[in-house]
Amino acid sequence: MSRTTPHAHPTEEAGSAVDTHCPYCALQCGMRLVPDPGAAGGVGVAERAAFPVNRGALCGKGRAAPETLARGLRLTEPLVRDPGSGALVPADWETALARVAEGLAGTRRDHGADAVGVFGGGGLTNEKAYALGKFARLVLGTSQIDYNGRFCMSSAAAAGNLAFGLDRGLPFPLADIPRTGCVILVGSNPADTMPPALRYLTELRANGGTLIVVDPRRTRTAEQADLHLAPRPGTDLALALGLLHLVVAEGRVDEEFVAARTTGWEEARAGAMAHWPELVERVTGVPVPRLREAARLFCAPREAMVLTARGPEQQAKGTDTVGAWINLCLATGRAGRPLSGYGCLTGQGNGQGGREHGQKADQLPGYRMLTDPAAREHVAGVWGVDPATLPGPGRSAYELLDALGRDTPDGVRALLLLGSNPVVSAPRAAHVEERLRALDFLAVCDVVLSESARLADVVLPVAQWAEETGTMTNLEGRVLLRRRALAPPPGCRTDLEVLNGLAARLGWEKGFPTDPAEVFEELRRASAGGKADYSGITYRRIAEEDGVFWPCPETPDGAPHPGTPRLFLDRFATPDGRARFAPVLHRAAAEEPDAEYPLLLTTGRVLAQYQSGAQTRQVARLNEAAPGPFVQLHPRLAGRLGVAEGERLAVVSRRGRAVAPARISAGIRPDTVFMPFHWPGEGRANTLTNPALDPTSRMPEFKVCAVRVERAVNG
Ligand code: SF4
Repeated sequence: MSRTTPHAHPTEEAGSAVDTHCPYCALQCGMRLVPDPGAAGGVGVAERAAFPVNRGALCGKGRAAPETLARGLRLTEPLVRDPGSGALVPADWETALARVAEGLAGTRRDHGADAVGVFGGGGLTNEKAYALGKFARLVLGTSQIDYNGRFCMSSAAAAGNLAFGLDRGLPFPLADIPRTGCVILVGSNPADTMPPALRYLTELRANGGTLIVVDPRRTRTAEQADLHLAPRPGTDLALALGLLHLVVAEGRVDEEFVAARTTGWEEARAGAMAHWPELVERVTGVPVPRLREAARLFCAPREAMVLTARGPEQQAKGTDTVGAWINLCLATGRAGRPLSGYGCLTGQGNGQGGREHGQKADQLPGYRMLTDPAAREHVAGVWGVDPATLPGPGRSAYELLDALGRDTPDGVRALLLLGSNPVVSAPRAAHVEERLRALDFLAVCDVVLSESARLADVVLPVAQWAEETGTMTNLEGRVLLRRRALAPPPGCRTDLEVLNGLAARLGWEKGFPTDPAEVFEELRRASAGGKADYSGITYRRIAEEDGVFWPCPETPDGAPHPGTPRLFLDRFATPDGRARFAPVLHRAAAEEPDAEYPLLLTTGRVLAQYQSGAQTRQVARLNEAAPGPFVQLHPRLAGRLGVAEGERLAVVSRRGRAVAPARISAGIRPDTVFMPFHWPGEGRANTLTNPALDPTSRMPEFKVCAVRVERAVNG
């Protein structure tokens, strides 16, 4: 029995304002939804200035978010594929759920439990991610579950676990950033991806601190930096090693810290010393004087931070690349101390919480590992089952997608897909689309008829962010309460109701409550004693305290644990309490340019769209701001190719061809082209991307592949 304050639904009074959070990125900006009968979704957005993360600021996506609630834009009745016409046709919920249950159970009966797969999303609430992992492992009995968060930050998670024994995006609140002395921001463009976060960097500079941005493009974030380093895509590992080389050469290693709080320095040092500045210049294209300037700026203040995002992480060597940046922090004593450290700017709304509570292929709730007998026993105890019945770890996200529809003993023949649109967001997307089409059975829960939902046998229309309560864990590790502000349209059900309905049809009448507060109570118990311990967190506490930082265990005397805004100040979470240097050396990208594919492609996001665009492409004002894909290329490259602004270009890789208009800009390296990845169709950037996987994190190499660019004269 809980001894902390029991859960409670937040106040939801018809017609009153509700404090909640944005549906999109990992900043999870606070917003107030106010009734507005004239607005498309029936609510408008008002400022929530008291919420500390964004202090009232929202980007255009957040301000336009209520428009996604408009009924005309979304599904409001289940769809099932008609065997005669092959079309998706409306059906009632009873018919649709029965068909999904039979599709999943029939596959399991005929081909075994692991022939059924589950694919989740980094936007699902903690409660849904928890329930989905439980549903897969108990009801379906399958090991084949993973989620699109694997594509988002898994290399940083792996590197953080290896170095610190714990993976939490930021080990400190964002509010610490303006008070440090220097930030190196690697492969991140918050000016476009999470604009309200930019003010922390602006304040850093206003306070006299320095900002170094590492990015192959001169982004709007890079324009604000004191120093911008533009390495070739895929060479940030060499860059980090080169900076560490200079730190050593110039006697800036914090020997006392290294001796007292770390292990593995000698091997890491040897790796760095093999990366002398001239070699690093040749590999990265960053001139030696700029390398020296970066090392000098980073070492000058007493406190400094390195923050990474998708740039270094989405590589086939992402774990080593992040490890090299962590090495730089450790060698200079910039970790485990106030106002210093390494952090990852997680991307998706619940990218952090989504990886803590069991929808990842190798994990159980509380950031427990499926291979750990004690973890299995604890979670099985909460679930009331024999630990031996829990399956082992399954495939990672891309490997799972690649196994779909294969007529082999280990093929995955039926899939339940929630909160994800892999037809647009997965690497080598045309192949992934083909695998989805090859399935015996596909069920999709979504708000809109996404490109992936269009391939389904059954589509279940579900409620969305402002229509259901649940917790989210933002990039700081702050557990937040996203509150229901209005009822979903008639005809929609919540994901928890869908799982409850399917579980009941598959023989599990109990164990899958539809009330998120009830699910959270169980999640608390399941996470108790784990790395991501939520047992001391309650809905009421979150509401009263503007979020609670995990780990937050339930205390023996029942007094509220304060939560843990800052990690590692006394010891790291490794068995011996010491941080571990990563023994890393630079290596080439999985695919380097050659005569046939002489350029590099890198991909990313734009300000007005979000991820696969399934939600934001529904909103007129966001489409006006960012109507479609483009190919950014340098004027010198454009001149060489004879390409004019706006001209249709074909970008071709070993996996396919994408066509989009040219956008000529000096803000990119002449050897590199950039495409945003929010759109399907001929401009789909992920048709081109390389699914080469990092050996540890299983993260695909979205950020670099070899391409050629041609004028698309014939479309
Ligand atoms: Fe939403 Fe992220 Fe924009 Fe904040 S920065 S309003 S969380 S999309």
